Amino acid sequence: MMEKMKVARMVGIRDMRMEQEDIPTIEDDEVLVKIEYVGICGSDVHYYEYGRIGDHVVNKPLILGHECAGTVVEVGKDVVSLKAGDRVALEPGRTCGKCWYCKTGRYNLCRDVVFMATPPVDGAFAEYVAYPADMAFKLPDNVSTMEGALVEPLAVGIHAANQADVRLGQSVAILGAGCIGLMAFKAVKAMGAGDVYITDTIDSRLQFAAKYGAKVFNPRNEDVVASIQGLTNDEGSDIVIETAGAIPSTRQTIDIVRRGGTIVLVGLVPDGEVSLNVARLIDKEAQIKTVFRYRNIYPSAIKAIADGNIDVKSMVTNTFDFDDVKQAFDYVVSNKSEVIKAVIKME
Ligand SMILES: [Zn+2]
Ligand SMILES: [Zn+2]
Repeated sequence: MMEKMKVARMVGIRDMRMEQEDIPTIEDDEVLVKIEYVGICGSDVHYYEYGRIGDHVVNKPLILGHECAGTVVEVGKDVVSLKAGDRVALEPGRTCGKCWYCKTGRYNLCRDVVFMATPPVDGAFAEYVAYPADMAFKLPDNVSTMEGALVEPLAVGIHAANQADVRLGQSVAILGAGCIGLMAFKAVKAMGAGDVYITDTIDSRLQFAAKYGAKVFNPRNEDVVASIQGLTNDEGSDIVIETAGAIPSTRQTIDIVRRGGTIVLVGLVPDGEVSLNVARLIDKEAQIKTVFRYRNIYPSAIKAIADGNIDVKSMVTNTFDFDDVKQAFDYVVSNKSEVIKAVIKME
């Protein structure tokens, strides 16, 4: 196909331009997807604002966006699982399928992963994306492509809940009420968690979480460790999931977790270094687990949305048209506390 399509390319810090380029051609095992919704992720915003995340540097123009869904318009000749007209959510990491990590099912740890919108790999702010059919997951009729785009952040929340091995009735403390913290909240509730305690320094986010039944705490107004201890007979929470990526909350996980409980670290602390009270951790015989993206979760996440067990629609606080994508990024950069999830409607 030699027709042209619109793409939005980040060409410098806080600079994004609409460009025209050829619609991609597909390999035999790929599908061509007309993209309908793309979520703006914290990582996209970070690249846009600072031009880098850790060692990943945007040093040539890059298409951002990795939370995406759309409609299949063309299938490669080896593709049997999908046909034109199917609506799909794209899992943004393509892995090698051959290494030890891939073969043992932990493909999120594959060293050869090619991940959308991670330099130099282009992402989904494009009218069309060519993608391997086995990483394009069909959406049932009652799941919209907007919900399809939200499967990606939901997958992070579900992976955190899986890593915590949450059981019926367990108490869960979630530190950070941004999109990932709230997705983890929805995941643990769907998996049977009992009381959920959520902390954040931004009241509007806490109000959002409270509306869905969480007990909420702002460390600016109270001692959140004491408050959670008070509500758990001084035992602490069975599970603590850190999603804020802040130093104080990462350190607090050890004070909030119950003896023998599980801490799951999801948020990335900016410089990577945090001092933790290891003696207290050992005294509690608590374990720390971590989350890097997700694996093998898209099908169950889509099923949970389709069955009404997890609602992701309510997470969308802002919608923008594709032509306004730069304004959307500028808006999110300057209104971080109000925006839970902004999505771009691509057509
Ligand atoms: Zn994301
Ligand atoms: Zn691999």
